[in-house]
Amino acid sequence: MNDRHKGKVALVTGANKGIGFEVVRQLGKAGMTVLLGARDAGRGAEAAAKLQAEGLDVRELPLDLGDEATIRTAAETIEREHGHLDVLVNNAGISVAGDGPPSGADLEVVRSTFETNFFATLAVTQAMLPLVRKSSAGRIVNVSSGLGSITFNADPGSPYYDVKPVGYNASKAALNMMTVGLAYELRGTGIKVNSADPGYTATDLNGNSGPQTVEEGAESTVRLALLPDDGPTGAYFDRHGPLPW
Ligand code: NAP
Repeated sequence: MNDRHKGKVALVTGANKGIGFEVVRQLGKAGMTVLLGARDAGRGAEAAAKLQAEGLDVRELPLDLGDEATIRTAAETIEREHGHLDVLVNNAGISVAGDGPPSGADLEVVRSTFETNFFATLAVTQAMLPLVRKSSAGRIVNVSSGLGSITFNADPGSPYYDVKPVGYNASKAALNMMTVGLAYELRGTGIKVNSADPGYTATDLNGNSGPQTVEEGAESTVRLALLPDDGPTGAYFDRHGPLPW
């Protein structure tokens, strides 16, 4: 175990399953106290219990991105119990039926996708930022997607070229803009803000169709959460390296 991270406090949103769950496991293995954010208390408790059984310091934290009161309460709980937050991983995200190309996507689906993937994620970030500012080396990781890259969306040579659900892709592009904007605001502090693309990973989000395992899907996010002090900020990575916006 790397002692550099021992005792640090991390929060991962949407962590009761999928990539978020694996990110919690990896940060726990790095020695952190990890708060496992989940909107459903039962699913959160069950997920936390699994990782506790592996000997990790994981605690369930109720957090529903669709309910501002739970975001406020989560921040108050972290303040009271830990006094600060070293790592915030904005992982919770959705991709739902009805999204599609700009000409025909269901507007309500596009709105709700933006609500979770962008607006609520911004709300969580704003609520947690005062706690991250109290860390000696804060890290914020926005779990984006390669589908959020405007460069990939416009490049006929990109593997993502033909995948264009406007709600999902635009919400992740907006999240990327938040990464760049917040990194700019926090320049000159020790806090690093980056976007991670997990890569196409088998989870419930895509009917378990992705070729990558969750361990591979968690890699870029975990690396950005554990960045050393001379690491990048305001950047966008998959597990192989930097990506174009
Ligand atoms: P997943 O298995 O469907 O997990 C999504 C998690 O987000 C679940 O824990 C879900 O909770 C939670 N969530 C959804 N809405 C929420 C809300 N309003 N409040 C709190 N939690 C909420 O999907 P995943 O593939 O692990 O996705 C994790 C992140 O990776 C997402 O941001 C996704 O866009 C991104 N990503 C995934 C892939 C991929 O190929 N899988 C590729 C690129 C990016 P419930 O269990 O309660 O629904």
